[in-house]
Amino acid sequence: MTATAPPQVTVVGSVNRDIAIRLPRLPRPGETQSSCGVTARIGGKGANQAVAAARLGARTRWCGAVGEDGEEVLAALAAHGVDVSGAVRLPGTPTGTAWIFVDDAAENAIVLDAGANGLLAPDHVPALADGVVLLQHEVPDEVTALALATARAGDAVTVLNPAPFRPLAAATLESVDVLVVNGPELAGLAGSASVPATPDEARVLLAEVPGVEAVATLGAHGALIQRGRHVEHIPAPPVDAVETTGAGDTFCGALAAAMAGGAPLVEAAEYAVHAAALSVTGEGAQESMPDAAQVREFMTTGAVPAAP
Ligand code: AMP
Repeated sequence: MTATAPPQVTVVGSVNRDIAIRLPRLPRPGETQSSCGVTARIGGKGANQAVAAARLGARTRWCGAVGEDGEEVLAALAAHGVDVSGAVRLPGTPTGTAWIFVDDAAENAIVLDAGANGLLAPDHVPALADGVVLLQHEVPDEVTALALATARAGDAVTVLNPAPFRPLAAATLESVDVLVVNGPELAGLAGSASVPATPDEARVLLAEVPGVEAVATLGAHGALIQRGRHVEHIPAPPVDAVETTGAGDTFCGALAAAMAGGAPLVEAAEYAVHAAALSVTGEGAQESMPDAAQVREFMTTGAVPAAP
């Protein structure tokens, strides 16, 4: 990114250190177990979505908080091409950390410490006057509300991925241009006890969410786009899925990148469906996110790159 060019996509959100610990079986209370291996990766929905957008060629800025131990995390994001000049460093606080215990049967147990993510404050949020502003639900609600309102007061387009799901204040929803939800989040939004399993079921629930353009992602079923009373289904191309971690984040980053490049919503969603489908063909979240050339190639020829 050049020093003067403004960001096309600004993500206000989380970053975590994800520490995956492999064990024969999950420990019982009071038990000590030796691990079979530990892997450390950078995660958090905000960071993942920023990396997805940057990998796809959008000038991307990430605004969020890290702790005293956060330099390595910021360097990793910068190495992916993300502008981290809007990051805040909070003394006396750890960077958000997820400890992910995985046993031989692939059962997992996760302990999440929000750390600095939970202490991001409204006055940490910079001016958000233009481009696409992308938010999730891993920072305090008052930050999300202020970022959305500030972006709306300028010329920015706002995209909210309310994950993990919490009910949205009406005022927050009013500042959202495009809402992106997966099946469980759509159920939460529509007040339904059952998660939609098919595009038809999702269509019924989307009708309960009027007044905002909404995109519902449905795993291997692709995505539904609701604009006013019109709903369009974009099927996902069939792929050999290896790991779906981060698919939703790839989708959101790709949608924002395409919209920032001027694509209308349905076209941007089609691009995002293909980018996210490619991401499930590899392991990891950020590790399997494709670049723009790979997505274009996949959309035109159906070719899946060897290592997306
Ligand atoms: P999800 O968060 O599970 O709704 O997935 C987000 C996006 O990832 C979907 O809209 C698809 O584009 C893609 N995706 C997830 N799982 C698969 C799959 N098994 N096959 C193809 N695409 C997938």
